Amino acid sequence: MTTPLKISAATLTKLAKLGIRHRADLLLHLPLRYEDETELVSLADVEPGETVQVQGVITHNEVLYKPRKILVCRLQDKEDELYLRFLNFYPSQIKLLAVGRQVRAIGEARIGYFGLEMVHPKCRAVSDKTQLATSLTPVYPTTAGLSQLTLKKLIANALEVLNPADPLPEKFRHNLNLPGFFDSIRLLHNPTTDIAACTLADKSHAAWRRIKFDELLAQQLSMRVHHKERSRRIAPALPPQGHYTDSLLKILPFSLTKAQQKVYAEISADLARPHPMQRLLLGDVGSGKTIVAALAALQAIENGYQVALMAPTEILAEQHYLKLTEWLSPLGIVPVWLSGSLKKKDKRVAAELIASGETWLAIGTHALFQEQITFHKLGLAIVDEQHKFGVQQRLALHAKGKQPVAPDEKSSEPHQLMMSATPIPRTLAMSYYADLDVSVIDELPPGRTPVITKLVSDTRREEVFERVRAACMTGAQAYWVCPLIDESEVLQLQNAQETFELLTDTFPDLRVGLVHGKMESAEKVRTMSAFKAGELQLLVATTVIEVGVDVPNASLMVIDHAERMGLAQLHQLRGRVGRGSAQSLCILLYHKPLSELARTRLKVIFENTDGFVIAQQDLQLRGPGELLGARQSGVAMLRFADIEADEDLLEHAREVADELLSDYPDAARTYLHRWMANKHDYLHV
Ligand code: ADP
Ligand code: MG
Repeated sequence: MTTPLKISAATLTKLAKLGIRHRADLLLHLPLRYEDETELVSLADVEPGETVQVQGVITHNEVLYKPRKILVCRLQDKEDELYLRFLNFYPSQIKLLAVGRQVRAIGEARIGYFGLEMVHPKCRAVSDKTQLATSLTPVYPTTAGLSQLTLKKLIANALEVLNPADPLPEKFRHNLNLPGFFDSIRLLHNPTTDIAACTLADKSHAAWRRIKFDELLAQQLSMRVHHKERSRRIAPALPPQGHYTDSLLKILPFSLTKAQQKVYAEISADLARPHPMQRLLLGDVGSGKTIVAALAALQAIENGYQVALMAPTEILAEQHYLKLTEWLSPLGIVPVWLSGSLKKKDKRVAAELIASGETWLAIGTHALFQEQITFHKLGLAIVDEQHKFGVQQRLALHAKGKQPVAPDEKSSEPHQLMMSATPIPRTLAMSYYADLDVSVIDELPPGRTPVITKLVSDTRREEVFERVRAACMTGAQAYWVCPLIDESEVLQLQNAQETFELLTDTFPDLRVGLVHGKMESAEKVRTMSAFKAGELQLLVATTVIEVGVDVPNASLMVIDHAERMGLAQLHQLRGRVGRGSAQSLCILLYHKPLSELARTRLKVIFENTDGFVIAQQDLQLRGPGELLGARQSGVAMLRFADIEADEDLLEHAREVADELLSDYPDAARTYLHRWMANKHDYLHV
């Protein structure tokens, strides 16, 4: 009988960094990849580009300074030679590779400066008797100071002392043709030589499929449990009363589209229930989400509750503030404005209005959800462009959401409405967003003319200048969006400033304005209002205008260095035009040479206008991590499964999750415990 290995405190700390807190977690710490040490390739047969294991005698060992310290050794096998190069190395490595030593090296061979070489190969000293490995060697994800060897020992021990039962009822295993859990785990830690290495590398092997299925199933279960758990929590029931909402609909200069009516009906029904709503309102740029938010707000206010509307940037929040003031003040509801850049005194005044309940509607940036702000009776929190918020802000909002809506209602919490113009592709909706209810506005208001998109090389910049001038001369307005500059906000501002000066000089007859993120907010607001009022004809901007800015008369958009921007960003920026009845044009200026990725992105944005299709392409190009944005670190990311490639497993996991919850609650619990135990705190922010 094997006994569990004792693990030192230092090692425990390192394991915790890898998310390993219990011995059983070691079982699921699966290899990142495998190395093939079962074969030796003679140097004469090595092809550049291949990862191989070779063996020979060290004939040269030298530390060079060119200009950084590097270790260069030469390995000889019969008539042939191979150079081993190390940019970072320890004294022990110099010793290991001493001249005369017999060494086995594994790495990718390539043609380098001296000829055939390997950079940072894995080396070990051997004798003529050293045997070859009989199975592929797993390589584990690890952290500084924790060696592969230590991990291997701990995992091997866990495999011996633990013998977990398979939580998946036989019926499903049989129907889905999946191998047993423990057999799969064991195989992935110690694959036998008869397994095709490629099925391990691309995770198509049945054992990998079983593990990926379990992971997806656990994710589905946790999402469902969270969703259900909400119906046990209490929120104020805010049924439609009709007096404010009807009045607003009467004074609006347009009538709601069918899609807007449908989503408002869904939201309205949620608000009427005594459980917290958590609904995501999706609608492409320009589809008219703001009016839906306004109606939801009025429904809460009609019931005597306060509403908070939060936007990720000052420009956008300000715009909502102006729009809602215009719509709601005829009804006697005057919103209050709150942002981080308000003067201390004004902030205090706003905070008091919110705390006393004198104000019904507070609009602002995430400052709304800072500690000092308490609501008298918050019934509904609306978050615009929710994917733009960082994790910290979501945590703050979540904490605020948990506060009782009013001092005398201890257990009740507000409803939440999140809005986003970034559509969720199907597989994302089925996995990471499965805990939310989703409403979709799937049509644009009538009378819009589709934007024409042109790709123009920046060697033709002068022509674009002329185009901008011509458009402005006919009464149109234009945006000039300055490039993103990686990791340097300073350079970005400098570039915006320079572009502004250049365009001001080039067009002495045009009124040109500038907005960027670091501007004082009063000035930012002044410039935006001037542009909105038509006093400025051309607005030079950084990507701060990316979200939500709404100036219907603007019909020309130039995006400089469009090749540096992501798809979602390009789509959002382009959505700033085409909001009026005039034909709009979006010019994407690009700078050659284009990377493969940039070329693909520009092609996608040129060929598509449907935000849904663009998001789908984005998911394929970038993977879910980036698309999820703020949600990424909030939701347990999948370690093994890939929702796109494993869509079939995801579908099955969805079905099995339902049955497990209703018929096999113990199995469901085991899954949640095994896969989610360490993630719970972060799961739902
Ligand atoms: P988004 O969904 O991108 O937030 P907005 O709410 O800013 O879109 O709406 C875009 C523009 O369309 C605004 O000027 C808004 O007033 C207008 N709008 C919204 N709904 C309608 C409608 N049903 N008919 C006509 N115009 C509308
Ligand atoms: Mg909007």
